[in-house]
Amino acid sequence: MAKIAVFPGSFDPITRGHDSVVRRALPLFDKIILAIGDNPDKKPYFLLKKRISWLKLLYKDEPRITVIVYSGLTVEFCKQVNAKYILRGLRTSADFEFERTIGLMNKALYHEIETVFLLCDPAYAALSSSIVRDILKNGGDVRDFVPEGINVGD
Ligand code: ADP
Repeated sequence: MAKIAVFPGSFDPITRGHDSVVRRALPLFDKIILAIGDNPDKKPYFLLKKRISWLKLLYKDEPRITVIVYSGLTVEFCKQVNAKYILRGLRTSADFEFERTIGLMNKALYHEIETVFLLCDPAYAALSSSIVRDILKNGGDVRDFVPEGINVGD
């Protein structure tokens, strides 16, 4: 059976930290689904359309990566797409505490799911989408923080 992982996130916007996790996880799975959560309670900074197009552009040459928008419970989405793994990145102990709660609850909701954590590349330990948004709002240059070829300043 194909090993399918879901990497859920807002990707608002995608950063080099996300990209590093995705690329490092590729050898572990047959397929990775970048699952953009469309959460009605969260007001994103970038339009969903833009976030989708950046992810599709970035992974256009990697047929094992697909981009899908979902809403509702991540585990329900995993069942729909036959994914038995949820991929997450860990930057700090705060990330770990947050992820542990979600991971345990996901397991309680769907026993067959396993959350796989990759430690963040130290170069990206301080990088987050929210920092990239703050820099942008203040007119700064974010090119070093988003993957090459992704122009979030447009
Ligand atoms: P969320 O909407 O859950 O906050 P994000 O898009 O911010 O989603 O992040 C999705 C996943 O990417 C999370 O597992 C998060 O820990 C991971 N991540 C975010 N930034 C980095 C980074 N700089 N390095 C490694 N992983 C990261």
